[in-house]
Amino acid sequence: MIKMKNLVLGYKKEKILKDINLEIKDGEFIGIIGPSGAGKSTLMMSVTGGIKVFDGKFKVLGHDMDNIKKKRLRKIREQIGVIFQGYNLVDRLSVLDNVVSGMLGDIPVARAVLRYYKDKELVKAKEYMDIVDMSKYATKRCDELSGGQRQRVAIARALAGEPKIILADEPISALDEKSAKKVMDILRRINQDYGVTIIANLHHLEVAKKYCSRIVGVNDGRIVFDSKSCELSSEIVENIYTIQK
Ligand code: ADP
Repeated sequence: MIKMKNLVLGYKKEKILKDINLEIKDGEFIGIIGPSGAGKSTLMMSVTGGIKVFDGKFKVLGHDMDNIKKKRLRKIREQIGVIFQGYNLVDRLSVLDNVVSGMLGDIPVARAVLRYYKDKELVKAKEYMDIVDMSKYATKRCDELSGGQRQRVAIARALAGEPKIILADEPISALDEKSAKKVMDILRRINQDYGVTIIANLHHLEVAKKYCSRIVGVNDGRIVFDSKSCELSSEIVENIYTIQK
């Protein structure tokens, strides 16, 4: 699904990630951990093709990411859902409108603007809202929701794009423990029941250990740990979080 071999990634002239070797298989639930500024978000977002490749081999969903054509990149991006710490919803729109906007590739702009949705689109939207337990709030504006509820809408919107991969950038950092658990339980369900590969950048180590099948530790632009989450000992955690300068 994702293959990185001796990969060097970064921005403009600055190389941030060095000698990255990582292979992610269909159906995995990966947690990326490490200190702030280590390169976790850069590593994760590189999967969408927005990060410069300096060297190495990089494949996503079977496509070579180096010098990739825009049209092909669009095809890849259609198969990737992204959720962020800040939710990135349209606050003045309803839960339903936000979820349907995840299908927008399939819906002509004029219909989207008029919010004229077909029955089959509404049925699908209901299905996604049910998964995240938000159907009862379908007509509520998103700015009237709690943080946890907004994140659940963001997950439903990502699901509406029928992704093969979901990238979750600090999905629970802004949430209280109870809301965080609900969001993580939903991500686990999407992974286990719907087979969506999930890559999550997580600050909470206990959460990463509990939910992820595999943990990737990043320190100063390098992968310093990559194994099953049960192998994450306190010494390894200390090593991952020690700034090596
Ligand atoms: P983390 O997610 O581990 O906190 P990031 O991937 O966000 O780390 O950042 C890694 C490094 O890349 C940092 O030094 C950061 O300043 C730099 N960086 C992040 N985004 C950009 C960008 N858009 N342009 C230039 N440098 C960036």
